[in-house]
Amino acid sequence: MRALVVTPGRPETLRLIDIPKPKAGAGEALLRIMRVGVCATDRDIIFRGHGRTPEGYDYIILGHEAVGKVVEVDGGVDIGVGDIVVPTVRRPCPEMCPSCRAGEEDYCITGHYKEHGVWGLHGFASDYAVTDAKFIVKVPEELKEIAVLLEPTAVVVKAIEQVMVIQRRYKWSGKDMLVLGTGPIGLLSALILRLQGFNVSVLGRRPPESRKAKLVNMIDAEYIRKLTIERKYDVVIEATGSTEVVYRSLKLGKPNSVIVILGVYQPTKIEIDLGSLMTDLMQYNRVIVGSVCAGKRHFERAKEYLMEARRRYPGFLEGMITKIVKPEEFRRAIEREPDDIKNVIDFTK
Ligand SMILES: [Zn+2]
Ligand SMILES: [Zn+2]
Repeated sequence: MRALVVTPGRPETLRLIDIPKPKAGAGEALLRIMRVGVCATDRDIIFRGHGRTPEGYDYIILGHEAVGKVVEVDGGVDIGVGDIVVPTVRRPCPEMCPSCRAGEEDYCITGHYKEHGVWGLHGFASDYAVTDAKFIVKVPEELKEIAVLLEPTAVVVKAIEQVMVIQRRYKWSGKDMLVLGTGPIGLLSALILRLQGFNVSVLGRRPPESRKAKLVNMIDAEYIRKLTIERKYDVVIEATGSTEVVYRSLKLGKPNSVIVILGVYQPTKIEIDLGSLMTDLMQYNRVIVGSVCAGKRHFERAKEYLMEARRRYPGFLEGMITKIVKPEEFRRAIEREPDDIKNVIDFTK
């Protein structure tokens, strides 16, 4: 079968290879992979050396945003052969820390977890893949075409869930949300906040007539290209991955606001007035929270949001998928043009 592999940090090793089809073991499901989405994490693995190869391999099969069909399944789960499913990414640590034991491996304490396509486990960018049957989510037929967006949507659902939990600390009446960035995570954040009824502004760099700006307008969110220090928000979601933007984001919150960090940043040293920044944080009960990965419950919730989004904003999710390429053309999906949002590799082609 075909598999897209790389040795982390060595872009010249990115290649499509032919390897034997995997076999499902006890408690596992064998999936016929249909589509795999490409994201910034994949590019970090390819170009910047993030990621870890599975034990005994000098490469990792890429791909953690996948949709596939169940070919074989073992173990008392309510998933059957022929079901369309999306696997979650992270698997519990061997110690089974309290979080992993509670089914919240996305909050793993030891850091010894593994992640398909990222950290110590092969990913899903191959014709077939196996994974623990307990960690797959069934998706309805109607979501098949856009189900590659389920994983990033689940990541966003978790991030926003953290905001809502934090804001239960007082009688919150926040309305104004700012999303920084128009990549998949930024656009999906804007979408979910709109579905929850908030006012949403989205910061992007592309011109107002661009695809990204149009998608923002489609969900009745405001597209902005400049931040003004006078305008403050109840929640700021940072999804640009830019150190310059993340620093500015710390100053955009109203009193009692929450700033969510969803990016991965390059090591950057800057001179800042830490004292004033922290005093300000204290004085206005501000929270900065990081959010990573997502658990199965977030995938289930994300599925409902995707179905609602298709009814309320037809064409939005489809509009986020910018390229669908054959596995042999993987380079076109990895290389990113300014208007690209979610590029997809289609293993049925
Ligand atoms: Zn991703
Ligand atoms: Zn753990």
